Amino acid sequence: MMRGQDNRTSTAVAALRRRAEAMVPPSRDSEETASPEELREMLHELKVYQIELELQNEELRTAQLSIEEARDKAEEARDQFMRLFHEAPVGYAVVDRSGLLLELNQTLRQMLGIPAEDALDYRAFAELLLPSDESIFRARFPAFFDQPSQKRMELRLLGPGKGESTWVEITGRPVSLPRRRPRGTNPSSQLLIIVSDISERKRLEGELMLAAKVFEHSAEGICITAPDGTILRINNAFTVVTGYQQEEVLGKNPRLLKSGRHDQEFYKTMWSALKQRGHWEGEIWNRRKNGEIYAEWLSISAIRDAAGHVMHHIAIFSDISERKVAEQQLEHLAHYDMLTSLPNRLLFHDRLKQALIKTRRYGTWLAVMLLDLDRFKEVNDQLGHDSGDLLLQQVAQRLTEAIRASDTLARLGGDEFIALLPSFEDCRAAMAGASTVAAHIVGELARPFDLNGNTVGITTSIGIAIAPQDGDTLSELIKHADTAMYNAKGRGRNNFQFYSAAMHRQSRDRTRMEQGLQAALSRNELLLYYQPKLALASGRIVGLEALLRWRRDDVVLEPDRFLRVAEESGVIVDIGGWVFDQACSLASRLASAPGGALPVAVNCSSRQLLAPQRLLSQLEEAMARRATRPEWLEIEITESAILQENSAAAKALARLREMGLRVTLDDFGTGHSSLSCLRRCPVDGLKIDRGFIADIGRNQDDEAIVRSILVLAATLKLSCVAEGIENSNQCEFLRDNGCDFGQGFHYWPPLTEAELETVLDSRDGMADDQKRQCTRLPRS
Ligand code: C2E
Ligand code: MG
Ligand code: MG
Repeated sequence: MMRGQDNRTSTAVAALRRRAEAMVPPSRDSEETASPEELREMLHELKVYQIELELQNEELRTAQLSIEEARDKAEEARDQFMRLFHEAPVGYAVVDRSGLLLELNQTLRQMLGIPAEDALDYRAFAELLLPSDESIFRARFPAFFDQPSQKRMELRLLGPGKGESTWVEITGRPVSLPRRRPRGTNPSSQLLIIVSDISERKRLEGELMLAAKVFEHSAEGICITAPDGTILRINNAFTVVTGYQQEEVLGKNPRLLKSGRHDQEFYKTMWSALKQRGHWEGEIWNRRKNGEIYAEWLSISAIRDAAGHVMHHIAIFSDISERKVAEQQLEHLAHYDMLTSLPNRLLFHDRLKQALIKTRRYGTWLAVMLLDLDRFKEVNDQLGHDSGDLLLQQVAQRLTEAIRASDTLARLGGDEFIALLPSFEDCRAAMAGASTVAAHIVGELARPFDLNGNTVGITTSIGIAIAPQDGDTLSELIKHADTAMYNAKGRGRNNFQFYSAAMHRQSRDRTRMEQGLQAALSRNELLLYYQPKLALASGRIVGLEALLRWRRDDVVLEPDRFLRVAEESGVIVDIGGWVFDQACSLASRLASAPGGALPVAVNCSSRQLLAPQRLLSQLEEAMARRATRPEWLEIEITESAILQENSAAAKALARLREMGLRVTLDDFGTGHSSLSCLRRCPVDGLKIDRGFIADIGRNQDDEAIVRSILVLAATLKLSCVAEGIENSNQCEFLRDNGCDFGQGFHYWPPLTEAELETVLDSRDGMADDQKRQCTRLPRS
């Protein structure tokens, strides 16, 4: 560089010299030759010039250097400016007054996804915005020229990708950038637009807005408090649940909601959990503004700052009173009987278990009392289920009044109730206490009940078991109380019995009998005896009654030994089917025998009539199997079987009669409503109970009853059979009073099939007219 400069300087000096020499005039003669003095002066001048020139030269060089330095600096500044302009953290764009883009920086290009090399061709700035925001910009940007500080716009810039946009804040200030302005434009009419990406701020704002909306619209009450508990904010649900408006609670402490149902300990635990773990949640009872106490599920969290200091507490709660009520209802449903509201079996078992634990721990005694209403089913059948339900409710009421509050009374189901009398000192006290209560209950339940105007009388049978004497487990005690209750029923009902070991034996026997009966059918242990029925006037056999027997361990048992168990266990239904089959078989055989058909009567118990469809199908199948005609069969029923008006049983009987079978009302006169029974269920005949016959000749009342029944039968045109005729007096009395038919030991006892055959053979061996007259000679 220095060498370059030297060369330039010497060139300039040479040029100067040439000019200077040209300017010196040439000498005309030798005389005019300068004197030495003049020459010295000229030489001096020349040297001065030379020095002057050198100095000038030096200055020129210095000036040139500083110009170059300034130019370098200017370039550097420009570069720096351009860097700042392009790499600024905000987008810059220069637009003219009409909004045309003159320039934009890299940042803005990046925001828009426009490559650096793309020319913009003076596009409108507004086109860089989302179409929906274009018009906003166009309308408002001119104001930037006048009051730039006042104006800012939040608009969406088109993003680099399709459909993308970025929230930006746009500000602008007029600028003068002469080199860039298009020809003819005024420098002050340019505008620098500053575009800042505010998408993160917008996102946060959106989140805040969402949070505020959630806060306000949350179904759960929210309360924000300062660390000292002062309420700072509440939401709408808080007001809905508590009844307090915002202005009533701000600045106050949440303890204004206290219900008073929790002790200090409760709140202490809550606060210590909040302090230790920063969170507490649980169920809490609070009080609404109107004083109502309600349950809420409350969750409190501590909100801490970065340094870990608690800034706020935020409490979120929901009103769970309805859920509580539903829970209580469920609890009630699970543990209480719907009809009587008494505890149910489950709850009773629970209480009994607890009581048994106490009994063992403290050496106390308790009594379990099982109650079953006598003949409840009859009420249900006669008056309908609504009346039955009403009766059970009234019974529950009387029972509740008869026991102490510390006792537990439960309904086990149906007409069965159970009571637990806990905490007796010893066995004697337990028995004495239980018998007092039981006697009281028996008396109370024997009083008539008023069921919607119907006066109904029922009684109860009670069985009592004492713990630990009769057992110390729940199942044992209940089983033994049950045994005692059956014993009370067996003893004529309407009484109470304590459990005893003898009962246990009976109950065991009963269980065995039940099992034995189940097996009797398959083991062929059942058989039928047949008792002839006679025309009293002629002594002629007019029919037979099939009577069930059970050959058990080589002893032939009569129905009174096993029928009740068969009925109560339901085995009688299967047995009944077998009886139909046997009776049909005999009836058909007799019909084809020389003597001709003899109707066979079959007894049918109420239990069988409870399943009338089964009964009908059993009978139809037996008749079809044995080819039995309906007139060869007769069905004997007792009153209890058809107590309910329009009952399915009565319908089944009507169906039997339609089929052509005769239906007879057995044991007539012993039931409570023999006459109404006749009205309800038309039958073909009556069988006077043998109890009345037995006393003929001894009891005038019974004779009068028998006479009346005979008159009644004649009036209603019903055939009448007297059963249990044991002597000729009875026979004569009956004949004299118009009784056509009879059966009894006086003629024949129930006979085995073989015996019957002999009897009938002797009849068949007679001449026809004798046959008609075949009489059983009264036994002497
Ligand atoms: P029931 O239908 O009234 O039968 C008459 C009962 O009186 C029979 O008792 C019979 O043996 C008895 N008897 C007949 N004549 C005399 C007499 O002169 N004096 C006395 N004291 N008794 C006499 P049994 O066979 O013990 O039957 C008792 C009851 O068992 C029957 O009473 C009937 O209700 C029922 N029963 C019998 N067989 C069946 C059956 O197959 N199915 C059903 N469901 N019940 C039956
Ligand atoms: Mg009978
Ligand atoms: Mg009878």
